Amino acid sequence: MNKKKIRPLVITIDGPAGAGKSTVARITAERLGLPYLDTGAIYRAVTWFLKGHAIAPEDGEMIGSALAVISISLSDGSVYVNERNVTDEIRTPDVDAAVSSYSALKPVRDALMDLQREQASRGLVADGRDMGTVVFPCADLKIFLTADAEERARRRYKERLARGEKAEYAEILSYVNERDLYDMNREIAPLRPANGCVILDSTRMTIEEVADVIVSLARELGETKEN
Ligand code: C5P
Repeated sequence: MNKKKIRPLVITIDGPAGAGKSTVARITAERLGLPYLDTGAIYRAVTWFLKGHAIAPEDGEMIGSALAVISISLSDGSVYVNERNVTDEIRTPDVDAAVSSYSALKPVRDALMDLQREQASRGLVADGRDMGTVVFPCADLKIFLTADAEERARRRYKERLARGEKAEYAEILSYVNERDLYDMNREIAPLRPANGCVILDSTRMTIEEVADVIVSLARELGETKEN
């Protein structure tokens, strides 16, 4: 049934790596007729650029100059850095291993704040680590989506195999744990449940079940357009 959307909702989905945030966020956004914002892709794009220019997380000055010349844009599920489509290149194990170090830096986070907030004019479903805590603290609905580390590593492992890539479960599990620890313990915008969020453990839930819960919570908040 089509219901008329009366106001654009802002929905945030935060959580650790591999919890299913991006798939759930994409499905939820589609069902509610809202844009989807994958903020992990933005941090990955910056990481890809800085690494590609051999700029290390410690090179404060170089990072400042580089950030001044990076232009990141998002369009139809693709990510562009200075107009080059980097959608696939930002998903490599190299970027996986480096992204948390660059994401912990204040200049990087500051540079990306406006870009993220600008996307919310028509409402959105945004997934990341600090969506509900820092970027959209006044969001209508905040979700913290989690799952056991082993299950999250298994999902990443299957994703890699499905893309025809080589993958080792034990290695992925250790990266997932390492990345979460880093993201949770950094000084700026650490990964943690936002005030007033709903915590969902997806270990034994399908993606569709998780999306159903979020869509019904959103519907309770106001009429939204169901496709
Ligand atoms: O969501 P995804 O796994 O693609 O995110 C990659 C990394 O980007 C995270 O591990 C985290 O270090 C960083 N990130 C962040 N803040 C966000 C989204 C992602 O620090 N809002």
